[in-house]
Amino acid sequence: MQVIKRKKEINSIVKKLRKDGKKIGLVPTMGFLHEGHISLIEKSKKQCDITVISIFVNPVQFGPDEDFARYPRDFERDRMLAAEKGVDIIFYPEPSEMYAENHLSYVKVEKMEKVMCGKFRPGHFRGVCTVVLKLFNIISPDKAFFGMKDFQQLAILKKMVSDLDIDVQVVECETIREPDGLALSSRNVYLKPEERKNANVLYRAINIAENEIKKGNSITASKNKAVKMLKDCAFVKKIDYFDIRDPEDLKTVKKPDSKKPKILIASAIWFGKTRLIDNKVIEV
Ligand code: AMP
Repeated sequence: MQVIKRKKEINSIVKKLRKDGKKIGLVPTMGFLHEGHISLIEKSKKQCDITVISIFVNPVQFGPDEDFARYPRDFERDRMLAAEKGVDIIFYPEPSEMYAENHLSYVKVEKMEKVMCGKFRPGHFRGVCTVVLKLFNIISPDKAFFGMKDFQQLAILKKMVSDLDIDVQVVECETIREPDGLALSSRNVYLKPEERKNANVLYRAINIAENEIKKGNSITASKNKAVKMLKDCAFVKKIDYFDIRDPEDLKTVKKPDSKKPKILIASAIWFGKTRLIDNKVIEV
C-alpha cells in the first residue's frame, strides 16, 4: 500500500494504472476509520481493480464554530486498518496541498444545499462539493463510493455529477450500524458513556415515523410522534430538523404519492455537545 501526499504524484500513478486498463475506485473519507468506511472499501475492492482512499479533514466544509480542530484524527491507526483491508493507495494531503493560498473557486448545488443540514451548517455542502470535485479531478476514479449515512451529501453529489457531466459512477452504500441501531460515525467518540447508551433514540424515532407512515397515518402526525419521542429523551438538547422529503430532489413531502413511492426520513439532533444525523429511505 502506498501513502501519497502530493496531487501530482497520485495523478501520475493513477494515469499509468488506467493506461494499463485498471478500474479505479475512490473512497473519500475524513479518516478515523470505522466499519462504515470499511464497508465502502470492501465494495470498491469487489467492483474495481485498484482502491484509493483519501483521508482529508476538509477545512472548507467546517463552519467557524464547528469541530474542525477537535475532529478525531489517528493516521497511524487508519494506515494499519487500510493496509489490512487491502487498500492500494491512501491519498493523504495537507490542507495547503489541496487549497492554494489564493484559492477562489467553489462548487454549489443550489437549493439542495440550503435545506436540512445545509440550513444549520451554511457553506458545508459548498465545501463538500468543492473537495469532492477536486478529488475527482486529481484521481479520475471510474467509481466513487459514498455512504447513505450522509444522505443529503450523497443526493447533492449525485446531482453535481449529473449536472456537471462528471465522468464517474457514484455508488451508494448502506448505512452500517451498531447492534443497538446507532449509525457508526467518527464523531460517536465524542459521546459520554450515558449519552452513548441513549443515542439510538434517533434511529428509534426514525423507525417510529416509518411505522406510522406505513400504517397510513399522515406525514404530520407521524413526524409529530417521532419528534415527541426525541423531546422526551433528556439527552436531546436540540432538534435541528426532523424532515420527510423526496430522496432525489430533497423537496418536502406533504402526502405519500403512489407515483413516488420512496420517501426519505432524515433528522439531525444535538446529543449533549455532539451533533448526530441519521436517515432512512422507506417505500410506501
Ligand atoms: P466521513 O469520513 O465521515 O466523511 O465519511 C466518509 C464516507 O463514509 C462518506 O461517504 C460517509 O457517508 C461514509 N460513512 C460514514 N459513516 C458511515 C456508516 N455508518 N455507514 C456507511 N457509510 C458511512
